[in-house]
Amino acid sequence: MSSTATEIAASEHSEAPDFGRLRADFPTLNQRVNGHPLCYLDNAATTQKPESVISAVANYYRKNNANVHRGVHTLSERATADYEGAREKLRQFIGAESTREIVFTRGTTEAINLVAQAYLRPLVSSGDEVLITGLEHHSNIVPWQMVCEQTGASLKVAALDENGEVRLDEFHRLLSDKTRFVAVSHVSNALGTVNPVGEMIEAAKTRGVPILLDGAQALPHMHVDVRDLDCDFYALSSHKMFGPTGIGALYGKASLLEAMPPYQGGGDMISMVSFEETRYNDLPYKFEAGTPNIAGAIGLGAAIDYLNAIGMTQILNHEKAMVAAALDGLSTIPGLRLIGRPRERAGAISFVIDGIHPHDIGTIVDADGVAIRTGHHCAMPVMQHFGLPATARASFAFYNNEADIERLLRALEHCRNVFA
Ligand SMILES: *Cc1c(COP(=O)(O)O)cnc(C)c1O
Repeated sequence: MSSTATEIAASEHSEAPDFGRLRADFPTLNQRVNGHPLCYLDNAATTQKPESVISAVANYYRKNNANVHRGVHTLSERATADYEGAREKLRQFIGAESTREIVFTRGTTEAINLVAQAYLRPLVSSGDEVLITGLEHHSNIVPWQMVCEQTGASLKVAALDENGEVRLDEFHRLLSDKTRFVAVSHVSNALGTVNPVGEMIEAAKTRGVPILLDGAQALPHMHVDVRDLDCDFYALSSHKMFGPTGIGALYGKASLLEAMPPYQGGGDMISMVSFEETRYNDLPYKFEAGTPNIAGAIGLGAAIDYLNAIGMTQILNHEKAMVAAALDGLSTIPGLRLIGRPRERAGAISFVIDGIHPHDIGTIVDADGVAIRTGHHCAMPVMQHFGLPATARASFAFYNNEADIERLLRALEHCRNVFA
């Protein structure tokens, strides 16, 4: 645990933690880029890692490196305890009932593919429908398209309105007797839109249709409780929430996971193998074939400790104020047009500037040390909806502050001058 986060935890009664001080916990944030202190506003693509996460990963390799679940020797027992400890931290963090419901995956993408192939594929055929929305990341589109191709089922898409929100009338209209599955993002990575997932889950449940939430962009910004939500599946990525890359998880209700066949075959997912017959292991190991990303899971556990020490409510409040200030500031820049004006927004702001290609914006602000994303943000259908090839996107995390907003605004002014 970093000292700053611990101090803040100790003083959590104080209304507003000093988020500025937390930056010191993130080595990457404390460097100059192109001659300027780094202003990192690409958190929707990946977040930076605190020292506590980096040292948890290093500590595993330095002191405890061994395979999990197999050895009786001391290092293997330590590695297993830390790996399973991380599963328990994640269970608590998202409010799952049991660690049997937490399957470690490579990330959100693999978690969604697991559900598409192991849960949905055996259940659907021609005439059946899968419902998604126009707001989805490619990771929550393509796996469902693949199942549809494999089975003859069809993909239905609830369209967006001009504000970048899902049209709920469309969502309700498309949710029919033919719908076998619903998959929606909790928060959009392209526009920052927070979906009304409560209403969507309720509607799916009323029809007895299972629903998956893509939570990659929700967990870094807000408290999530899968039991309160009552969703059937929830997919997440560690690297979007200050943990290592190459690890994430699928939450699934135990009753659904139990009924599913394994996704991949190999070691760790079996209880007995002979050439005549193989018996599968219990949950969640049935879905964790092969040696897992042990260091990654331990790093994710450290990231969760770090977030808990600050408090997700504190983070949400800080970010709400910051995003509101950024929206105010951006609206003063002549020729700048916000793409998407959702009522509820978390983390990300997409925009374009008249007469300047988004890629040029990205390159010019980088020269000023400001890192933003430009492009389609792995959500080409969202871009098509707005008739744009690309946008510029500034995306925030709790370690950003007013100074970052100032830096962004100044860099954008600079960019306008270059093209004036
Ligand atoms: C990043 C992201 C994904 C994909 O996550 P990976 O970590 O690349 O698997 C899916 N959905 C959303 C909303 C994302 O932001």
